[in-house]
Amino acid sequence: MKISIKDLSIMITSPTSKTKVLCIIGNPIEHSMSVTMHNASIQNLGLDYVYLAFKVLSNDLSSAINGLKAFKIKGASITIPHKISVMKYLDKIEPMAENIGAINTIKNENGILIGRNTDGEGFIKSIKESGYNLKNKKIVLFGAGGAARACAFYLAKEIDEITIINRSNSSMKDLISKLKLNYDIPIKGFNLSKSEDIKNEIEGSDMLVNTTSIGMYPNVNENLVKQSWLHPKLFVVDVIYSPLQTKLLQEASSIGCNVLSGVDMLVNQGILAFKWWTGVSPDKKLMKQVVLDELI
Ligand code: NDP
Repeated sequence: MKISIKDLSIMITSPTSKTKVLCIIGNPIEHSMSVTMHNASIQNLGLDYVYLAFKVLSNDLSSAINGLKAFKIKGASITIPHKISVMKYLDKIEPMAENIGAINTIKNENGILIGRNTDGEGFIKSIKESGYNLKNKKIVLFGAGGAARACAFYLAKEIDEITIINRSNSSMKDLISKLKLNYDIPIKGFNLSKSEDIKNEIEGSDMLVNTTSIGMYPNVNENLVKQSWLHPKLFVVDVIYSPLQTKLLQEASSIGCNVLSGVDMLVNQGILAFKWWTGVSPDKKLMKQVVLDELI
């Protein structure tokens, strides 16, 4: 029986000695959406699981990951700042996550810890679900951090050309060289200070993706992308989900661009993780509604 979100608060059953544990590990962890999102799905599906949040300092990461084995925790989400550093403590890494150089999900398969990156998969799924066709497209992507790497690797599989724009050259060059090792498409990079080059790149592009943290709550009035760089045919995507409409998305909408926020990416990466851990597909509508309720 499917239940509404309203009913969830009175349906929550107590864990027993047989209850299987899932968790999220990060620091800070207080504002994570994952606890509500995954527990809502567990309750909705009547599974004997519970999803908990653990604030873990970098110095304690190795002990925490060993603890996953000791406590037979079935799966874990990994968030800031551990997505890269955690990799050395795992037994196996999925090939795409190895290429990306970061993981956000661990599955404990009978004591073997496997790492996967569902951020990129969740991102590309959200683009496809929006109805946008990536075939033959040229893309400008702002950022070269963890989210950028995940998105760029999945985009490069589908598109014709990509340009990376970033504040620091070192991480931009590193991302470009890793992409070039894996994909045979034109890949360029410009520093964020090169306004004229960026404007020209965007002018000839179909889609713009912001994967930087600029514009994220509480700095909601910030935006790296000048409105004068945009044109109405551009599909503008921001991986930020708080706020739902970043300044970038507001400015792009106001000149007629189609836009997409990071909330579907967030929900999709969670769905992929949940299914991997439990073998059961959660209800996307419910998961998204729970996230929207927390955000609004
Ligand atoms: P990282 O710290 O790995 O990367 C941050 C990026 O932002 C880098 O490219 C960095 O540039 C750039 N940046 C940071 N500050 C500035 C600044 N002042 N000026 C210019 N550029 C700046 O973070 P993540 O990649 O993990 O996360 C980035 C965003 O993506 C966050 O807002 C996060 O919430 C969101 N996210 C959303 C997900 C979703 O499911 N929707 C999933 C994962 C992340 P530089 O290299 O120069 O430092």
